Amino acid sequence: MKDTSLAVKYRPTELNEVVGQDHIVTLVRGLLVKGIANTILAHGPHSSGKTTIARLIGKYVNCEKGPKKACHVCQSCKYADEGIHPDIVEIDAATNRGIEQVRELIKVSNFMPMFGRYKVFVLDEVHAMTPQAFQSMLKILEEPPSTTIFILVTTEPSRLPRTIIARCLDLPFQRLSPTDVMPLVKRVAEAEEAEITEEQFGLVASRSRGYPRVALNLLEKVIKGGDALDNRLLDDVPEIRAELLLTAILTKAFPNMVKILMDSADPDGIMLALLDIFYELFVVAVAGAKLDPYWTGILSRSKVKIPMIPPIYQILFEKVSTARTQFGVDNIHYYMIALKEIYELSESAS
Ligand SMILES: [Zn+2]
Repeated sequence: MKDTSLAVKYRPTELNEVVGQDHIVTLVRGLLVKGIANTILAHGPHSSGKTTIARLIGKYVNCEKGPKKACHVCQSCKYADEGIHPDIVEIDAATNRGIEQVRELIKVSNFMPMFGRYKVFVLDEVHAMTPQAFQSMLKILEEPPSTTIFILVTTEPSRLPRTIIARCLDLPFQRLSPTDVMPLVKRVAEAEEAEITEEQFGLVASRSRGYPRVALNLLEKVIKGGDALDNRLLDDVPEIRAELLLTAILTKAFPNMVKILMDSADPDGIMLALLDIFYELFVVAVAGAKLDPYWTGILSRSKVKIPMIPPIYQILFEKVSTARTQFGVDNIHYYMIALKEIYELSESAS
Protein backbone atom coordinates (compact mmCIF):
# COMPACT_ATOMS: atom_id res chain seq x y z
CA MET A 1 0.00 0.00 0.00
CA LYS A 2 1.27 3.44 -0.86
CA ASP A 3 2.30 5.43 2.19
CA THR A 4 0.21 8.59 2.13
CA SER A 5 0.97 9.83 5.63
CA LEU A 6 1.47 13.58 5.92
CA ALA A 7 5.12 13.01 6.85
CA VAL A 8 5.69 11.34 3.49
CA LYS A 9 3.40 13.60 1.47
CA TYR A 10 5.15 16.75 2.71
CA ARG A 11 8.71 15.53 2.66
CA PRO A 12 10.76 18.57 1.57
CA THR A 13 11.24 18.73 -2.19
CA GLU A 14 13.38 21.85 -2.05
CA LEU A 15 15.91 23.42 0.28
CA ASN A 16 13.49 26.18 1.36
CA GLU A 17 11.25 23.58 2.93
CA VAL A 18 13.84 22.16 5.30
CA VAL A 19 12.99 23.34 8.81
CA GLY A 20 15.29 24.56 11.55
CA GLN A 21 18.63 24.07 9.77
CA ASP A 22 19.16 27.48 8.20
CA HIS A 23 22.94 27.32 8.61
CA ILE A 24 23.07 24.04 6.69
CA VAL A 25 20.76 25.28 3.93
CA THR A 26 22.87 28.44 3.47
CA LEU A 27 26.04 26.38 3.34
CA VAL A 28 24.60 23.91 0.83
CA ARG A 29 23.30 26.72 -1.39
CA GLY A 30 26.77 28.25 -1.38
CA LEU A 31 28.29 24.92 -2.37
CA LEU A 32 25.80 24.42 -5.18
CA VAL A 33 26.85 27.81 -6.60
CA LYS A 34 30.58 27.45 -6.11
CA GLY A 35 30.89 23.74 -6.78
CA ILE A 36 29.76 20.87 -4.62
CA ALA A 37 32.24 18.85 -2.56
CA ASN A 38 32.62 15.20 -3.56
CA THR A 39 32.78 13.94 0.01
CA ILE A 40 30.37 15.25 2.62
CA LEU A 41 29.72 14.28 6.23
CA ALA A 42 26.19 15.04 7.49
CA HIS A 43 25.98 14.49 11.23
CA GLY A 44 23.65 15.37 14.07
CA PRO A 45 20.70 14.04 16.08
CA HIS A 46 18.23 11.66 14.48
CA SER A 47 15.28 13.19 12.62
CA SER A 48 17.14 16.47 12.15
CA GLY A 49 17.01 16.35 8.33
CA LYS A 50 20.38 14.83 7.38
CA THR A 51 19.07 12.29 4.89
CA THR A 52 16.59 14.81 3.53
CA ILE A 53 19.38 17.28 2.75
CA ALA A 54 21.47 14.50 1.24
CA ARG A 55 18.62 13.53 -1.11
CA LEU A 56 18.07 17.19 -2.03
CA ILE A 57 21.74 17.62 -2.91
CA GLY A 58 21.30 14.63 -5.25
CA LYS A 59 18.24 16.26 -6.76
CA TYR A 60 19.79 19.72 -7.27
CA VAL A 61 23.06 18.56 -8.81
CA ASN A 62 21.18 16.37 -11.29
CA CYS A 63 18.34 18.71 -12.28
CA GLU A 64 18.44 19.85 -15.93
CA LYS A 65 18.32 23.44 -14.66
CA GLY A 66 20.60 22.72 -11.70
CA PRO A 67 22.70 22.73 -9.72
CA LYS A 68 21.84 26.16 -8.25
CA LYS A 69 18.17 25.28 -8.19
CA ALA A 70 15.86 22.37 -8.88
CA CYS A 71 13.07 22.87 -11.44
CA HIS A 72 10.79 20.11 -10.03
CA VAL A 73 9.49 19.29 -13.51
CA CYS A 74 12.34 17.70 -15.45
CA GLN A 75 12.56 13.91 -15.54
CA SER A 76 15.54 13.94 -13.19
CA CYS A 77 13.64 15.98 -10.58
CA LYS A 78 10.63 13.68 -10.90
CA TYR A 79 12.76 10.61 -10.36
CA ALA A 80 14.40 12.28 -7.37
CA ASP A 81 11.06 13.24 -5.80
CA GLU A 82 9.75 9.73 -6.24
CA GLY A 83 12.89 8.26 -4.72
CA ILE A 84 13.68 6.23 -7.86
CA HIS A 85 16.52 8.26 -9.35
CA PRO A 86 19.04 5.77 -10.78
CA ASP A 87 21.97 8.01 -9.79
CA ILE A 88 20.89 8.76 -6.22
CA VAL A 89 21.69 5.63 -4.28
CA GLU A 90 20.88 5.20 -0.60
CA ILE A 91 22.81 2.54 1.24
CA ASP A 92 22.05 1.43 4.78
CA ALA A 93 25.59 1.07 6.10
CA ALA A 94 24.30 -0.74 9.19
CA THR A 95 23.40 -3.76 7.07
CA ASN A 96 26.10 -3.28 4.42
CA ARG A 97 28.95 -2.72 6.79
CA GLY A 98 31.67 -5.07 5.61
CA ILE A 99 34.66 -4.82 3.33
CA GLU A 100 32.99 -6.79 0.52
CA GLN A 101 30.14 -4.28 0.26
CA VAL A 102 32.61 -1.41 0.25
CA ARG A 103 34.59 -2.99 -2.59
CA GLU A 104 31.37 -3.30 -4.55
CA LEU A 105 30.52 0.32 -3.77
CA ILE A 106 33.93 1.51 -4.94
CA LYS A 107 33.51 -0.43 -8.19
CA VAL A 108 30.07 1.05 -8.86
CA SER A 109 31.12 4.57 -7.89
CA ASN A 110 33.63 4.56 -10.74
CA PHE A 111 30.88 4.17 -13.33
CA MET A 112 29.53 7.25 -15.06
CA PRO A 113 26.11 8.51 -13.93
CA MET A 114 23.32 6.79 -15.85
CA PHE A 115 20.93 9.68 -16.06
CA GLY A 116 22.17 12.85 -14.39
CA ARG A 117 25.50 14.63 -13.92
CA TYR A 118 26.53 12.96 -10.68
CA LYS A 119 26.24 9.63 -8.99
CA VAL A 120 25.30 10.42 -5.40
CA PHE A 121 25.80 7.78 -2.72
CA VAL A 122 24.05 8.43 0.58
CA LEU A 123 25.57 6.17 3.23
CA ASP A 124 23.12 6.07 6.12
CA GLU A 125 24.29 5.13 9.62
CA VAL A 126 27.84 5.11 8.32
CA HIS A 127 29.28 4.74 11.84
CA ALA A 128 28.22 1.06 11.74
CA MET A 129 30.83 0.14 9.13
CA THR A 130 33.70 -2.10 10.19
CA PRO A 131 37.22 -0.66 10.66
CA GLN A 132 38.36 -2.65 7.62
CA ALA A 133 35.53 -1.22 5.55
CA PHE A 134 36.52 2.32 6.55
CA GLN A 135 40.13 1.52 5.75
CA SER A 136 39.25 0.41 2.25
CA MET A 137 37.17 3.55 1.69
CA LEU A 138 40.02 5.94 2.49
CA LYS A 139 41.52 6.01 -0.96
CA ILE A 140 38.29 6.68 -2.84
CA LEU A 141 37.35 9.42 -0.38
CA GLU A 142 40.78 10.96 -0.93
CA GLU A 143 40.38 11.00 -4.70
CA PRO A 144 36.75 10.46 -5.57
CA PRO A 145 35.75 10.31 -9.25
CA SER A 146 34.78 13.86 -10.32
CA THR A 147 31.23 12.74 -11.15
CA THR A 148 30.64 10.98 -7.83
CA ILE A 149 29.46 12.46 -4.53
CA PHE A 150 29.63 10.52 -1.28
CA ILE A 151 27.41 11.75 1.53
CA LEU A 152 28.17 10.04 4.83
CA VAL A 153 25.26 10.29 7.25
CA THR A 154 25.57 9.57 10.96
CA THR A 155 24.20 10.34 14.41
CA GLU A 156 27.55 9.32 15.91
CA PRO A 157 30.46 11.03 14.13
CA SER A 158 32.77 10.20 17.06
CA ARG A 159 32.67 6.55 15.93
CA LEU A 160 34.23 7.44 12.58
CA PRO A 161 38.00 7.28 12.11
CA ARG A 162 39.60 10.73 12.09
CA THR A 163 41.12 9.94 8.72
CA ILE A 164 37.61 9.60 7.25
CA ILE A 165 36.30 12.78 8.89
CA ALA A 166 39.31 14.75 7.67
CA ARG A 167 38.44 13.94 4.06
CA CYS A 168 34.87 15.21 4.25
CA LEU A 169 33.15 18.56 4.16
CA ASP A 170 31.37 18.98 7.48
CA LEU A 171 27.59 19.54 7.72
CA PRO A 172 26.72 19.75 11.44
CA PHE A 173 22.96 19.42 12.01
CA GLN A 174 21.28 20.80 15.12
CA ARG A 175 18.68 19.29 17.37
CA LEU A 176 15.35 20.91 16.49
CA SER A 177 13.07 22.43 19.11
CA PRO A 178 9.25 22.49 19.20
CA THR A 179 9.47 26.12 18.07
CA ASP A 180 11.39 25.04 14.95
CA VAL A 181 8.69 22.62 13.79
CA MET A 182 5.81 25.07 14.28
CA PRO A 183 6.12 26.71 10.79
CA LEU A 184 6.12 23.24 9.20
CA VAL A 185 2.98 22.20 11.09
CA LYS A 186 1.22 25.42 10.06
CA ARG A 187 2.27 25.13 6.43
CA VAL A 188 1.02 21.55 6.14
CA ALA A 189 -2.24 22.34 7.94
CA GLU A 190 -2.82 25.18 5.50
CA ALA A 191 -2.05 23.00 2.49
CA GLU A 192 -4.48 20.38 3.81
CA GLU A 193 -7.09 23.12 4.37
CA ALA A 194 -7.48 21.92 7.92
CA GLU A 195 -8.96 24.11 10.60
CA ILE A 196 -6.71 23.81 13.58
CA THR A 197 -6.95 25.91 16.70
CA GLU A 198 -3.91 27.72 18.11
CA GLU A 199 -4.16 25.50 21.15
CA GLN A 200 -3.92 22.39 18.99
CA PHE A 201 -0.95 23.83 17.08
CA GLY A 202 0.78 24.41 20.39
CA LEU A 203 -0.05 20.91 21.57
CA VAL A 204 1.24 19.29 18.39
CA ALA A 205 4.49 21.30 18.36
CA SER A 206 5.31 20.77 22.02
CA ARG A 207 4.44 17.09 21.97
CA SER A 208 6.54 16.52 18.87
CA ARG A 209 9.53 17.55 20.98
CA GLY A 210 11.03 18.99 17.81
CA TYR A 211 10.80 15.90 15.61
CA PRO A 212 9.21 16.92 12.29
CA ARG A 213 7.96 13.39 11.56
CA VAL A 214 6.31 13.09 14.97
CA ALA A 215 4.78 16.56 14.54
CA LEU A 216 3.18 15.63 11.22
CA ASN A 217 1.91 12.31 12.58
CA LEU A 218 0.29 14.16 15.47
CA LEU A 219 -1.16 16.76 13.11
CA GLU A 220 -2.67 13.94 11.09
CA LYS A 221 -4.43 12.63 14.20
CA VAL A 222 -5.77 16.10 14.94
CA ILE A 223 -7.07 16.51 11.38
CA LYS A 224 -8.71 13.07 11.34
CA GLY A 225 -10.12 13.55 14.83
CA GLY A 226 -11.81 16.84 13.88
CA ASP A 227 -14.04 18.35 16.55
CA ALA A 228 -14.42 15.00 18.24
CA LEU A 229 -10.71 14.71 18.88
CA ASP A 230 -9.88 13.49 22.31
CA ASN A 231 -6.56 15.08 23.21
CA ARG A 232 -5.59 11.86 24.91
CA LEU A 233 -5.23 10.35 21.43
CA LEU A 234 -2.15 12.51 21.08
CA ASP A 235 -0.59 10.63 23.97
CA ASP A 236 -0.42 7.37 22.07
CA VAL A 237 3.08 7.78 20.63
CA PRO A 238 6.33 6.50 22.15
CA GLU A 239 7.66 10.05 22.64
CA ILE A 240 4.69 11.04 24.78
CA ARG A 241 4.67 7.79 26.73
CA ALA A 242 8.36 8.33 27.40
CA GLU A 243 7.47 11.64 29.00
CA LEU A 244 4.84 9.99 31.18
CA LEU A 245 7.51 7.50 32.15
CA LEU A 246 9.90 10.35 32.90
CA THR A 247 7.36 11.91 35.24
CA ALA A 248 6.84 8.56 36.97
CA ILE A 249 10.61 8.17 37.41
CA LEU A 250 11.05 11.68 38.77
CA THR A 251 8.18 11.27 41.22
CA LYS A 252 9.47 7.80 42.17
CA ALA A 253 6.16 6.16 41.33
CA PHE A 254 7.47 2.68 40.67
CA PRO A 255 4.09 0.98 39.99
CA ASN A 256 3.35 3.67 37.38
CA MET A 257 6.72 3.17 35.77
CA VAL A 258 6.02 -0.54 35.38
CA LYS A 259 2.48 0.03 34.16
CA ILE A 260 3.43 2.52 31.44
CA LEU A 261 5.93 0.11 29.99
CA MET A 262 3.66 -2.90 30.42
CA ASP A 263 0.74 -1.22 28.64
CA SER A 264 2.83 -0.20 25.68
CA ALA A 265 2.81 -1.84 22.28
CA ASP A 266 6.28 -0.46 21.63
CA PRO A 267 8.57 -0.73 24.68
CA ASP A 268 11.63 -0.28 22.44
CA GLY A 269 10.27 2.99 21.11
CA ILE A 270 9.54 4.28 24.62
CA MET A 271 12.94 3.37 26.00
CA LEU A 272 14.72 4.93 23.01
CA ALA A 273 12.68 8.11 23.42
CA LEU A 274 13.41 8.11 27.15
CA LEU A 275 17.13 7.74 26.46
CA ASP A 276 16.82 10.69 24.15
CA ILE A 277 15.17 12.79 26.87
CA PHE A 278 17.91 11.91 29.34
CA TYR A 279 20.49 12.87 26.77
CA GLU A 280 18.96 16.36 26.67
CA LEU A 281 18.81 16.54 30.46
CA PHE A 282 22.36 15.19 30.79
CA VAL A 283 23.83 17.78 28.43
CA VAL A 284 22.12 20.51 30.41
CA ALA A 285 22.96 19.10 33.82
CA VAL A 286 26.63 18.52 33.06
CA ALA A 287 27.59 21.15 30.53
CA GLY A 288 24.98 23.78 31.32
CA ALA A 289 24.07 23.75 27.64
CA LYS A 290 21.54 26.18 26.31
CA LEU A 291 18.12 24.65 26.84
CA ASP A 292 14.95 24.92 24.88
CA PRO A 293 12.21 26.40 27.12
CA TYR A 294 10.38 23.12 26.72
CA TRP A 295 13.10 21.26 28.64
CA THR A 296 13.55 23.92 31.31
CA GLY A 297 9.81 23.52 31.93
CA ILE A 298 10.11 19.77 32.45
CA LEU A 299 13.13 20.22 34.70
CA SER A 300 11.53 22.79 36.94
CA ARG A 301 8.17 21.00 37.15
CA SER A 302 9.75 17.69 38.06
CA LYS A 303 12.02 19.12 40.79
CA VAL A 304 14.61 16.60 39.63
CA LYS A 305 17.90 16.59 41.48
CA ILE A 306 20.55 17.37 38.88
CA PRO A 307 23.15 14.90 40.27
CA MET A 308 20.67 12.08 39.60
CA ILE A 309 20.65 12.64 35.88
CA PRO A 310 24.06 11.24 34.86
CA PRO A 311 23.69 7.87 36.67
CA ILE A 312 20.15 7.34 35.31
CA TYR A 313 21.35 8.26 31.83
CA GLN A 314 24.12 5.70 32.16
CA ILE A 315 21.80 2.88 33.27
CA LEU A 316 19.42 3.69 30.43
CA PHE A 317 22.15 3.78 27.84
CA GLU A 318 23.63 0.45 28.96
CA LYS A 319 20.27 -1.31 29.12
CA VAL A 320 18.90 0.05 25.89
CA SER A 321 22.02 -0.66 23.87
CA THR A 322 22.41 -4.17 25.33
CA ALA A 323 18.74 -4.95 24.78
CA ARG A 324 18.92 -3.82 21.19
CA THR A 325 22.11 -5.64 20.28
CA GLN A 326 21.67 -8.86 22.26
CA PHE A 327 18.04 -9.59 22.93
CA GLY A 328 16.31 -8.89 19.66
CA VAL A 329 12.61 -8.18 19.89
CA ASP A 330 11.62 -9.48 23.30
CA ASN A 331 13.23 -6.79 25.44
CA ILE A 332 10.51 -6.10 27.95
CA HIS A 333 12.14 -8.12 30.77
CA TYR A 334 15.40 -6.33 30.34
CA TYR A 335 13.69 -2.95 30.40
CA MET A 336 11.70 -3.81 33.51
CA ILE A 337 14.97 -4.53 35.29
CA ALA A 338 16.36 -1.24 34.03
CA LEU A 339 13.37 0.57 35.56
CA LYS A 340 13.88 -1.29 38.84
CA GLU A 341 17.53 -0.19 38.95
CA ILE A 342 16.59 3.39 38.16
CA TYR A 343 13.95 3.35 40.88
CA GLU A 344 16.37 1.93 43.47
CA LEU A 345 18.94 4.52 42.52
CA SER A 346 16.52 7.40 42.99
CA GLU A 347 15.28 5.93 46.30
CA SER A 348 18.78 5.61 47.70
CA ALA A 349 19.60 9.17 46.70
CA SER A 350 16.70 10.72 48.57
ZN1 LIG B 1 14.72 19.55 -12.63
